[in-house]
Amino acid sequence: MVTERYDAVVIGGGPNGLGIAAYLAKAGLKVCVCEERLELGGGAENVEPLPGFRIDPHATYLYGAAAPIFEQLELWKFGFRMKYFATLAGGVTTDGKAIVSGRFNIENTIQSIKKYSPKDAEFVRFSHESFEPYAKDFLRSIFWTPPYPLEHQDPDNLPWMRFVKEKAPGLSLLINRDTMELSTYELLDIQFEFEPLKVVMGQGAWYNGPFPAWRGMGIFGLATGLLMAYSSGCPVGGMHSMIHALVRFCLAHGVKFYTNAPVDEIIVENGEAKGVVLGGGYSGKEIRAEKLVVSAVDVKTTFLKLLKEKYVSKSLIQKVKDISLHGGSLFVLHLIVKELPKYKGDAEELFFTGKNYPSVVCLPADSREYVLNQARDIFSFRTHPMKDESMHIMICCHDIYDETRCPPGYHVLSPIYIQVPPPEYHKDGPLAVNKAKWEIAEKILGTIKKFAPNMTEKNIVAKFINTPYDSEHRNMGLIGGNWYAIRECEDQWWSFRPIPELARYRTPIHKLYLSHQTSYPGGLCLFAVPYNLMHILIDDGIIQKPDWFFTSPYHIKDKESDIRKNL
Ligand SMILES: Cc1cc2nc3c(=O)[nH]c(=O)nc-3n(C[C@H](O)[C@H](O)[C@H](O)COP(=O)(O)OP(=O)(O)OC[C@H]3O[C@@H](n4cnc5c(N)ncnc54)[C@H](O)[C@@H]3O)c2cc1C
Repeated sequence: MVTERYDAVVIGGGPNGLGIAAYLAKAGLKVCVCEERLELGGGAENVEPLPGFRIDPHATYLYGAAAPIFEQLELWKFGFRMKYFATLAGGVTTDGKAIVSGRFNIENTIQSIKKYSPKDAEFVRFSHESFEPYAKDFLRSIFWTPPYPLEHQDPDNLPWMRFVKEKAPGLSLLINRDTMELSTYELLDIQFEFEPLKVVMGQGAWYNGPFPAWRGMGIFGLATGLLMAYSSGCPVGGMHSMIHALVRFCLAHGVKFYTNAPVDEIIVENGEAKGVVLGGGYSGKEIRAEKLVVSAVDVKTTFLKLLKEKYVSKSLIQKVKDISLHGGSLFVLHLIVKELPKYKGDAEELFFTGKNYPSVVCLPADSREYVLNQARDIFSFRTHPMKDESMHIMICCHDIYDETRCPPGYHVLSPIYIQVPPPEYHKDGPLAVNKAKWEIAEKILGTIKKFAPNMTEKNIVAKFINTPYDSEHRNMGLIGGNWYAIRECEDQWWSFRPIPELARYRTPIHKLYLSHQTSYPGGLCLFAVPYNLMHILIDDGIIQKPDWFFTSPYHIKDKESDIRKNL
């Protein structure tokens, strides 16, 4: 078989693989992407179980509106279009209280909260006004900045602290050395009094990363919520249409794609990555890389399978094996309905109307107890929640804002989430949730019906489910853990992600780099990993800094002598 040669070979065609392929191609490199599945896009996938009805099996919101990639690659020229949601989120309580929140509908948000807590409404106004002018740069200082070398970890020197000090001193009320120690709930308890507001914001944290009761993750919990609020939307047609834009960009810049082409092995010669060997239908085919190999698949697969536990120390292999991927994973129900849920109480009368209907509704919003109970079932009992006391549900609907999602006269409620243990951590084995999936779906529907009596079988046209186990086998990058592919906790955050030795996207193998959600900042289609990795590649002299590539103002270069010291 003929050996092909490129400057760069990227393993895996998910958002982070395509992102780095696109960056490198625009920087002038000859790039090849090898993807195991037939289709590119990884977790950014949309499917039509019935023609014309589009559901989101995995990624559903774009949180990356602040990502430099959209400007740097001018993705709109390749068909990328965003649909912004006026009302992002809503919460409903058992006794019919309802609140909404949305960056583009801030007055409605404030009015809905004012009805129950004028003090909280004022604080929401204050935080909106304080954050709005700085939101993009603040988010970039957190997510779109490579983690620092360990010797630069002084809290006052962290990029988001520097940002606050230099650009937005008013925010130091919220972001300071002391608040860095707190959990999201603790921070929310300091700021707000109305529990349903805290429940909705706490869920914003958990569904974008850190569990809201985990200490040391409060600032990031709020920052992940801010990510979602700042973007407040998704690409027209769903997340996969963003992948189409990226693939068009890559093709226009000469990227070669192999699909249905699992990489079996990374070729290493004299401590340097030299290419890959394909399996599947291409069995044995070698693709050589002159300048670098990027593994855009998860860190465990990279070291344990593709490097076959060779070339690096036993202690590093053990550390990779020990990375915990426990946490909540997402049980996803999709419904095609004739009518949107009509929630009882204030929701229907006041706020969930027409174009103000929230793109995601969180219930019950009464108390965080429901969330804590769900987490107790997952983390401690390692089972899926089935009791009323643990039923906490997120119901998304994007067709309110994006008419491409289904034909008129219908709505697609997709995804409807609860969290369950990842398959590998379920006490009854990896298939336990699959076996109980229709029972779980009925429990979810029963709970929704208590809030929205019109959610009867007559209103429901079709139901589909994908469990975490199903997701793992649709999207190979998720195998072995929670939906985020990495835990959002203090000991796996920032320079500790996935482990300190690998935190700057380098590996002990010369010219082998990481670009997957198991690297910092972690899950979500933020394109932060490829952007951050570009800094490291420029520092390492693998590529020249292109004119169009602006770097993070907070990036710290390693000292020349330190680059490989920690590996
Ligand atoms: C239920 C669910 C909901 C989510 N919701 C959101 C959301 O709303 N917003 C959001 O931004 N994110 C969301 N995510 C997360 C998002 O999908 C991921 O963070 C994102 O897909 C990660 O991209 P990636 O490129 O790092 O990895 P992946 O998307 O996992 O891509 C890795 C790719 O590598 C391929 N691959 C694996 N092994 C090999 C091999 N040996 N050879 C070749 N190819 C290989 C895989 O097939 C895959 O295409 C959600 C995830 C789930 C599961």
